[in-house]
Amino acid sequence: MTLHVHKYGGTSVGTVDKIQNVAQKLADEKAKTGHDLVVVVSAMSGETNRMADLAKQMQNKPSAKQMDVLLSTGEQVTISLLCMALQELGQSAASYTGSQVKIITDDSHTKARIEDIQTDKIQTDLADGKIVVVAGFQGITVDGAITTLGRGGSDTTAVALAATLKADECRIYTDVDGVYTTDPRVEPKARRLDRITFEEMLEMASLGSKILQIRSVEFAGKYNVPLRVLSTFQEGSGTLITYEDEDMEKAVISGIAFNRDEAKVTMEGVPDMPGVASKIIQPISDANIEIDMIVQNVAEDQTTDFTFTVHRNDYDTTMKLLQAISKELGAEKVSGDDKIVKVSLVGVGMRSHAGIASQMFAVLAKEGINIRMISTSEIKISVVVDEKYLELAVRSLHESFDLSQE
Ligand code: ADP
Ligand code: ASP
Ligand code: MG
Repeated sequence: MTLHVHKYGGTSVGTVDKIQNVAQKLADEKAKTGHDLVVVVSAMSGETNRMADLAKQMQNKPSAKQMDVLLSTGEQVTISLLCMALQELGQSAASYTGSQVKIITDDSHTKARIEDIQTDKIQTDLADGKIVVVAGFQGITVDGAITTLGRGGSDTTAVALAATLKADECRIYTDVDGVYTTDPRVEPKARRLDRITFEEMLEMASLGSKILQIRSVEFAGKYNVPLRVLSTFQEGSGTLITYEDEDMEKAVISGIAFNRDEAKVTMEGVPDMPGVASKIIQPISDANIEIDMIVQNVAEDQTTDFTFTVHRNDYDTTMKLLQAISKELGAEKVSGDDKIVKVSLVGVGMRSHAGIASQMFAVLAKEGINIRMISTSEIKISVVVDEKYLELAVRSLHESFDLSQE
C-alpha cells in the first residue's frame, strides 16, 4: 500500500472554505489513487500570532511552558474542523493532537525536538481506511508536558511522521507552487526550481528562507524522506528536495536567501590577549542567546574590535550584557545596529567555481550598497547590509547570477 503524508500550512487552512477545499482535495486524491493518507495541519493563518499577542498582554516574558500550552491549541482547532469537513464528504477520518498520537519530544519548551513517535493508533486507523489528521507543531514530553517545535514546526511534524511511517512521499502544501530561486514576494521574477538538493535547501532554510523549517529538512535528509513542496491552490509537480545527482541542473547558484531578523553588536578597543573572545561570548551563550556571524579584527595598538550578530529579539539583552562585559575587560566602547539584514547566495556549484564572491561584491558596489560583514562556507556566501537595501540587494544579485525567469 502506498502511503503519502500531506502537510497544509496556515494559509491553506485559513478559512472554513479553505478547510473544505483541503477536504475535497484529500477525498479526490483518495478516490483517484487509493493512497493511504496522513494529513498534518497548521493553525489557521494568523492564529499563532494572535495567541502570542494575547500572551504578551498578560506578561512581559511568559514562561515557555505556558506558551506551549497556549500555542498548541491553534492546531487542535484545525484538526477537528478538517475531520468534520472530511466526514461531511462521506470520508472516514480520525483526528489526533501531538500528545494523543504520542509525538514524544525533549523538554525544550517552544523549540522542542522530536525524539520518538508512536504509530500504532495511526496504523490501525489507516488499516480501517481512515484518513488520519494530525496536529502539527506539537508534542509531549515523557512527563506529560505539552511542547511545541518552534515556528514553522508543522513541516517537521510532517517529515518526522513520514520518516517513522516510511511514507512513500511527504508533500508540503503551501501558498506558493514550490521552492523558488528566492522569496517571490521580494523578487517577482524568481523562478521555481524543479529540484533542489537537501544540502542547498538546508542552507536556504538556515539562512532565513521560511518556506521549510530547518529541522524538517534535516530530518528528510537524514532519513531519506522524499520531500516535495507544492501549492494547495494550483496543480503542478512543485519542487522535489533530493540528493545531488548527475542530471540535475548545473547552476552555480541555486538561490538567494535572506534574514530580516538579525542585529549586530560591536565591542571596540578590546585588549588583545588570550581568552578575550571567550570572555565576551560566554555570558551571551549562558543567557541562551544564539550567536551567528563572528568577526574579530587584526589587532592594532594591542587592542582589537569584536563584532557578532544575534537574533533581533535578543538585541537589547545582548547590548546590556556587552556593556557589563566591556567594563570588566576595560574595552573602549560598545555599539550596535538592529537595522541590518543578511543576504546569502547558496549553491553546490560554488564548490567548483571561483569568482562568485568577487561578482557578488561588485554587484553590491555598483548599487552603492555597503557590506558590513562577510562570511563564507563551502556552498554559501553571506553578507550583512543595511536593512533598507534588502530588496535592492536581492534583486540585483538575482539578475546578475541569471536566476530570473526568461
Ligand atoms: P505555510 O503557512 O504554508 O507553512 P510559509 O509562510 O511558512 O507557509 O511558507 C511559504 C512562504 O515562504 C511563501 O509564501 C514565500 O513568501 C516564502 N518563501 C521564502 N523563501 C522562499 C523561496 N525560496 N521559495 C518559495 N517561497 C519562499
Ligand atoms: N502554527 C505554527 C506557526 O505559525 C506552526 C506552523 O504553522 O508550522 O509557526
Ligand atoms: Mg511554514
